[in-house]
Amino acid sequence: MKKLRGILIGRMQPVHNGHIQVIESILDEVDEIIIGIGSAQLSHSLKDPFTAGERVVMMNQALADIGVDSSRYYIIPMQDINFNALWVSHVKMLTPPFSVVYSGNPLVKQLFAEEGYEVKQPPLYDRLNLSGTEVRNRIIEDKNWQELVPDATVKLINEINGDKRLKNLSIKEISEI
Ligand code: NAD
Repeated sequence: MKKLRGILIGRMQPVHNGHIQVIESILDEVDEIIIGIGSAQLSHSLKDPFTAGERVVMMNQALADIGVDSSRYYIIPMQDINFNALWVSHVKMLTPPFSVVYSGNPLVKQLFAEEGYEVKQPPLYDRLNLSGTEVRNRIIEDKNWQELVPDATVKLINEINGDKRLKNLSIKEISEI
């Protein structure tokens, strides 16, 4: 029987509890989910501190920790391209076939809708706190960021001294102003 596949693309800088909750709810609707790690070429900046590989580890381990069967998801890094009008083709080239797109990002929704895809906007969970921006700010300000992310993200960030990386980037970028 044909499998129903959905796709969620995000920068996941870093993977937080909102991403995991939304993936769990998508998995109630589809057989398999494709998780696109967006802007894969970016790392070591305040907005995009973690490499694609680091984000893959966070996501893979977080899903394993909550018992999601690894046969139900694909984690695929995808670089940005300069041409928005060609981006959906670029994504299709990198992924297994899919029929439903999940996104809260207006540009992502627009580009896939124009190509005829069914686009669904999943609910946002505690968006005030569950955002990459909030997690990154809390890391820099030595506040409790750990409560916003799965253990796998804490573990990976500790392993690579990601808190120091982010703090260093913030000092450098502020002093360059
Ligand atoms: P993101 O990590 O902010 O969010 C990804 C998705 O996670 C959201 O759409 C939302 O559905 C979900 N999410 C986030 N927080 C949530 C919460 N609290 N509760 C529930 N769900 C939550 O990533 P993004 O910025 O939307 O990523 C889009 C990616 O697509 C970027 O990497 C962007 O560069 C890429 N893109 C590239 C092109 C191009 O290359 N031309 C064009 C469009 C988009």
